[in-house]
Amino acid sequence: MSEHGTRYVVVGAGLAGASAAAAVRESDPDAVITVLGEEPHLPYERPGLSKDYLQGDSDAAGLAVHDAGFYDDQRITVRPQVRVTELDRAAHEVVTADGERIGYDRLLLATGSAPRRLPVPGADLAGVLTLRTLEDSDAVKDAIAAGGPLVVVGAGWIGLEVASAARSAGVDVTVVHDAAVPLERVLGEAVGRRFADLVTAAGVTLIGQAEVAGLTGTGHVDGVQLADGRTLPAATVVLGVGVNPRTELAEAAGLQVDDGVVVDATFRTADEAVFAVGDVARAHNEWIGEAVRLEHFAAASDGGPVAGRAMAGREGARWAVPPFFWSDQFGVGLEYRGWADPARHHVVVRAGAPASQTGTPWFAFWHEAGRLVAGLHVDGWDDADTVKDLVSSHAVVDVARLADPGVPLADVRA
Ligand SMILES: Cc1cc2nc3c(=O)[nH]c(=O)nc-3n(C[C@H](O)[C@H](O)[C@H](O)COP(=O)(O)OP(=O)(O)OC[C@H]3O[C@@H](n4cnc5c(N)ncnc54)[C@H](O)[C@@H]3O)c2cc1C
Repeated sequence: MSEHGTRYVVVGAGLAGASAAAAVRESDPDAVITVLGEEPHLPYERPGLSKDYLQGDSDAAGLAVHDAGFYDDQRITVRPQVRVTELDRAAHEVVTADGERIGYDRLLLATGSAPRRLPVPGADLAGVLTLRTLEDSDAVKDAIAAGGPLVVVGAGWIGLEVASAARSAGVDVTVVHDAAVPLERVLGEAVGRRFADLVTAAGVTLIGQAEVAGLTGTGHVDGVQLADGRTLPAATVVLGVGVNPRTELAEAAGLQVDDGVVVDATFRTADEAVFAVGDVARAHNEWIGEAVRLEHFAAASDGGPVAGRAMAGREGARWAVPPFFWSDQFGVGLEYRGWADPARHHVVVRAGAPASQTGTPWFAFWHEAGRLVAGLHVDGWDDADTVKDLVSSHAVVDVARLADPGVPLADVRA
């Protein structure tokens, strides 16, 4: 501890880091708090980068986690454009790219994740884009404005949101992916099939079970070659093929990493001075009863404050809320709460109309012997609170009633 107070250093000026820093201040009035971030911005929220910001409906100021005045008021020093290159646990210091050594009493790794590239020829051509930062979103926005054809590789949330934004701008879009249906890994085949209907009804060409063999072009991309011999013309390619947690500092410092920095329900590593939270962390979630690494806004905004309080030594700060995320695409809004493994949990789809009929709510629930573990609503806003209650309480349901859209959701408990 310094003579002025405990020194808290946060590496990563994103949502998780900013939320943790604010919670440290609430818990420790004397704390000396420094947030180091390599980007040239104050912490900002990323969901809009593939939604309203990408579509030109909001500006960069609207993405800020807090305005600059907040950090001044809270006596939180945020240092943009400072990249940490080493964590020296023995000395209790981090080292920056400029060689500066910054001492800590408590350290938080909130370094997020980085988009994967494709290990194929041509992946580094101009016009092959990924989407993580404000600048990435600006580049995708410019590419959409320049017109298509646009090929999106990957049918996860970000890939589909980019496809949706491009379609609304009238661009010719093809989504190529390796599963049978979009979102299959997160939602399973039955629910993914409904998204396939939604996406194709919007005029997107969907090519599933496809492998990208290479990207063609001289200097700038002009096509996507598939392993089956087809070539798709492309003015721009957006890669939405997942992210890797930025665990490199933790790994080099000898901390346990298993697709994420391994931490307990207080976000503490085996080193009691070092914590990790957000996309980079594999944390024990007490509501699920398992350790998970989630790439969700809520994991950062719920987890950050827990990590901040735990670092400041507050009792009872533990990650025990159900995971949550949302998406907006192709004219629908959706919310998913809980956590399901489609390979392990049973799914019940509750729908009275095809997914392409937007405006008609539909639902999916995942359960284990009737005990709910996750729920999704698509435009089911009138029932959103009921879905939240059912899932959060792990309600035990009558599966036949749950599947019947004629039975009110409030009456599906067994
Ligand atoms: C386009 C897009 C759309 C999304 N949409 C949704 C959505 O609709 N719903 C939802 O729930 N989630 C969504 N997410 C996910 C959500 O934004 C993330 O889960 C969240 O940003 C994670 O926050 P974080 O603070 O852990 O990481 P980040 O926001 O990535 O912040 C980490 C920061 O650390 C910095 N950093 C990394 N290493 C270093 C280093 N060594 N030194 C200094 N700084 C470093 C990075 O540059 C970055 O600024 C979306 C993400 C993206 C990219």
